[in-house]
Amino acid sequence: MKIIFATGNTHKLREAQEILGPGFELTTPQALGCTEEIPENATTFEGNAKEKAQYLWDRFGLPCFADDSGLEVDALNGAPGVYSARYAGPQKNDADNLQKLLEDLQHIPEQDAQGQALRTARFRCVIALMLEDGCHLFHGTSEGCITTAPSGNGGFGYDPVFRPQGYDRNFSELSAEEKNSISHRGSALRAMAQWLKQR
Ligand code: IMP
Repeated sequence: MKIIFATGNTHKLREAQEILGPGFELTTPQALGCTEEIPENATTFEGNAKEKAQYLWDRFGLPCFADDSGLEVDALNGAPGVYSARYAGPQKNDADNLQKLLEDLQHIPEQDAQGQALRTARFRCVIALMLEDGCHLFHGTSEGCITTAPSGNGGFGYDPVFRPQGYDRNFSELSAEEKNSISHRGSALRAMAQWLKQR
């Protein structure tokens, strides 16, 4: 199946192609000549994913999907959330965002005196798939916690400080296959692929 993925993020594109496999031929808005920034003005992952997918549907009228994703940190009341990409400012710089996150959590230890984890967090991903019959949503989450310092050099974004539950390595230290098998984006994309197969 040929499908447009509304992203300019090469990491997300590679992950999505690896997760969906050869049955899906992904293309991007840029490859189809759409170079403007796709609007993303909503205050929820669902709203942003729908807005991006609708924008592409209106432009091309072809099957397309958008993902909106981000990190929710409990000690920060769910921040950076939908603002994950621009947490440190509109320059959308991964290193700046990561540094700001570690600074904001500086005063929070890994555990309290009872051994309770204090830096718990989760990645969320919502996929909006646009087809002729409308918009279909798929969700994925990955639970874990934020380490006190970055480690590893794989992945992107907050991967160097996100330790998935049950692992002793961060997302950035896992192979692409390992990350995809437990990630928020992996779960949401597999749900979409399964749904398309059963239609
Ligand atoms: P979006 O492009 O608006 O969905 O922004 C998502 C932002 O959330 C990215 O720029 C990253 O900062 C962060 N993010 C989403 N998924 C991941 C992931 O798998 N690893 C690390 N950071 C992620």
